[in-house]
Amino acid sequence: MAWFTRQKTPLGDGPPDGEKKIRTEGLWQKCEHCGQIIWRKALEENMQVCPKCGWHFRIDARTRVGMLLDNGLAEEFDAGLVSADPLGFVDSKPYHERLAMMQQTTGMRDAVIAAAGPLNGRRVQLCVLELKFIGGSMGAVMGEKITRAIERSLAEKSPLIIVSASGGARMQEGAISLMQLAKISAALMRLDEAKAPFISILTDPTTGGVTASFAMLGDLNIAEPGALIGFAGPRVIEQTIRQKLPEGFQRSEFLLQHGFLDAVVPRAEMKQWISRALDFFLV
Ligand SMILES: [Zn+2]
Repeated sequence: MAWFTRQKTPLGDGPPDGEKKIRTEGLWQKCEHCGQIIWRKALEENMQVCPKCGWHFRIDARTRVGMLLDNGLAEEFDAGLVSADPLGFVDSKPYHERLAMMQQTTGMRDAVIAAAGPLNGRRVQLCVLELKFIGGSMGAVMGEKITRAIERSLAEKSPLIIVSASGGARMQEGAISLMQLAKISAALMRLDEAKAPFISILTDPTTGGVTASFAMLGDLNIAEPGALIGFAGPRVIEQTIRQKLPEGFQRSEFLLQHGFLDAVVPRAEMKQWISRALDFFLV
């Protein structure tokens, strides 16, 4: 629990670099991994994956919905839910001001899109976290939207897919944000008892209370290549244990080798992969 009280970052309890991606407006973009200059259109056509080295750039939630559902964001739920700022929290600025600013810049009310629709013709409930909205942090709104998505899955016996990208629990909502871990986990238990499949997709970065709850509770937990996945970030662990961490620690491939993930799936193959997995689950 001390982990939560030490953090001063407004980005939740994970690594604070979630929002630092610099956007250049030109035709070209430098790959943040291999350093090659890439034609922006080539990057777009390649689903924001570097054609030279395969590095997966972060993408926004709306784009992700478009990649997974056959008809994109045609059916959205609870888009109007907003946090009530129950603690009247103030860090470097009042929380209600931070929320208003985020709502303006992202066009979203909170850090998750709850959608439903066909994935290769099979209806699924899909929740996608938006990293740009206060680091994809989980507060009461995310907890409620995901829980309602689980309840819809239960009601219509459709599979649930959650795509995570998050710094963790939303510190501005204090203990209320932490209660969402238990709330969502309990709802997932009911989904499990009803034998409706839940596939968790972890993308760069998935950390803190999101990893510690629903992101690791899938019937299948799969990740994109190269994603940072953990509870505390590597810097915090190094400072705590005073040891250098091994190469690639907390990246998807390392976690797959050590049994924390079921698969690492490139973005271009993700939709087909999920579709096949659901075929297998739902024969
Ligand atoms: Zn590259």
